Amino acid sequence: MDIHLDIYSPVHQIHDQLFIDKGVQVFIKRDDMIHPIISGNKWRKLKYVLLQAQAEGKTHLVTFGGAYSNHLLATAAAAARFGFKATGIVRGEEMQNDTLFLCRLHGMHLIFTDRESYRDKPALFDRYFAGDADAFFIDEGGASALAAKGCSELVAELEQNYDHIFCACGTGTTAAGIINGLMDAGLNAQFNALPVFKNGGFIKEEIDRYLTAPANYDLHTGYHFGGYGKTTPILIQFIQAFISRTGILIEPVYTGKMLYALYDLAAKDHFKPGSKILAIHTGGIWGLLGMKEKFNRD
Ligand SMILES: *Cc1c(COP(=O)(O)O)cnc(C)c1O
Repeated sequence: MDIHLDIYSPVHQIHDQLFIDKGVQVFIKRDDMIHPIISGNKWRKLKYVLLQAQAEGKTHLVTFGGAYSNHLLATAAAAARFGFKATGIVRGEEMQNDTLFLCRLHGMHLIFTDRESYRDKPALFDRYFAGDADAFFIDEGGASALAAKGCSELVAELEQNYDHIFCACGTGTTAAGIINGLMDAGLNAQFNALPVFKNGGFIKEEIDRYLTAPANYDLHTGYHFGGYGKTTPILIQFIQAFISRTGILIEPVYTGKMLYALYDLAAKDHFKPGSKILAIHTGGIWGLLGMKEKFNRD
């Protein structure tokens, strides 16, 4: 089967009085529109990994994630789309939620595992699939050099130059790929990486691991809102206001924190007047379903 999706990821301008006041233009690249489930950076990250699996004659994707993992869900949907079997090894006790429901709906087989065993993924893979010539290992979060290569292709789609590019970071693979793409194209947009974890400084090592050459970029570690998956009322309020003013869905784990940072930095005059700023919408909006109770009902 031809492993391919037509990329539809337009750039939309975000109109806001704040940006008019500060004399900047802000745009968002809609990678969330690439596919309803294999959303955003997850398709870019999977593309060359699936091509590799196919080239090796593998027919069964085995990957790892938490119970709310966008990577797990994207892999389930991509496997269904391109004719692979899929197994997801899920961290923690057996449970049910909307993400896992959608994984199963796409035919992914789920195996739950205790947190101790989850630390050693190659050992887990061997426990269930040693000697299985069909099975193909994909690391947690889909992190790999092939994944970074897929993400670097975003840069060639840009039709104008930007002074700043903003992107949320989990494993840092997407950030590394985009930075590589900028360097390859000879563009000097300032890249702004937004780790969504507490003490996110460690993400520099993760990003640098997949860079094809040393690069300068900004790391904004102060926008984690308490840690991975954590929220505050201020973040939730920001997300509600953003969605209702723009019609663009964002969620609290990644894109909400990244855009909050962009607005906050704009308010603090971080950007020179005249700057053009591009935010990458990395998708993940199904994650909203796991956080409904955090939002106001009125
Ligand atoms: C997975 C994910 C990220 C993080 O991508 P990395 O390559 O792991 O840094 C960012 N945003 C969303 C919505 C994601 O699902």
